[in-house]
Amino acid sequence: MGPCLSKGSSEPNMRSSGNMFTSQADAKYSAKSRNILILFGPPGAGKGTHAPKIVDKLSIPQLSTGDMLRAAVAAGTEVGKKAKAAMDSGALVTDEIVVGIIADRIKEKDCVEGFILDGFPRTLAQSKMLDKELAKTGEAVSRVIELSVPDAVLTERICGRWVHKSSGRSYHVKFNPPKSLAKLGGKDLNKEKDKTKWMKDDKTGEALMQRSDDTAEALVSRLDAYHKQTVPVLKHYGKKKCVAIDANRDMDSIWASIDKATDF
Ligand code: ADP
Ligand code: ADP
Repeated sequence: MGPCLSKGSSEPNMRSSGNMFTSQADAKYSAKSRNILILFGPPGAGKGTHAPKIVDKLSIPQLSTGDMLRAAVAAGTEVGKKAKAAMDSGALVTDEIVVGIIADRIKEKDCVEGFILDGFPRTLAQSKMLDKELAKTGEAVSRVIELSVPDAVLTERICGRWVHKSSGRSYHVKFNPPKSLAKLGGKDLNKEKDKTKWMKDDKTGEALMQRSDDTAEALVSRLDAYHKQTVPVLKHYGKKKCVAIDANRDMDSIWASIDKATDF
């Protein structure tokens, strides 16, 4: 068990305290503390799979730095140009870029009740910069939910992942197939010339896609970055704020644990 609490441990702090208002605008956040959650785990742990269910439950948005960066790359913005090479190789983009994106995003209206950070913070420096940003409004991270999965399980998850680009919904060719795949009648998808024909989003019917960094090669660097640079973030937030969940189980059991850990 890492620095996070096991499921049976005593309840961590639910909400941030401290109410040093610095302006009227800040007061709207501090008057009713926001639920500020960090969804933590290696690539393929299930963050994208479970985040939409937390969104539905708590009515707060999921802020995925990976999705935001991919959108910036696709739009060809300055941020996107700076981030692209690092993302393609599986390395992290600079702390300044991601903290800048998040600091702006959490001031938007839909974050007034709180937000879920998915894929951020990913370095100790990012967590310290986040804490500093939140301290301006007398706030702090409420809870860190750690999804733990052994590295050996992640390759198959990552290499079989298909995503719906605009919503971020995550599917798997074997573990969580879209309804459209049933039409292939159990035949091998890899033998199909146009795989996207069989891989459509359940809700919109739009085509799913595979991420360019979802390869076994890039996963090696991504996992290396996770262990060396990201895991220290857990210790930073400490036992009181972290809840560790065994995410090497079936999706429903994992959700039951996350559901319990997000009862505010
Ligand atoms: P992350 O957002 O943490 O990188 P995802 O939620 O996208 O991870 O999950 C990675 C892949 O593994 C997806 O294809 C997803 O369908 C699949 N997956 C997620 N959770 C499980 C699970 N408990 N068992 C099997 N496959 C899973
Ligand atoms: P995953 O959790 O499956 O690794 P993400 O979608 O969260 O993937 O991130 C994809 C890529 O975007 C990362 O490999 C990294 O290059 C970049 N990235 C995302 N979030 C951060 C972050 N907080 N700090 C630095 N780089 C990030």
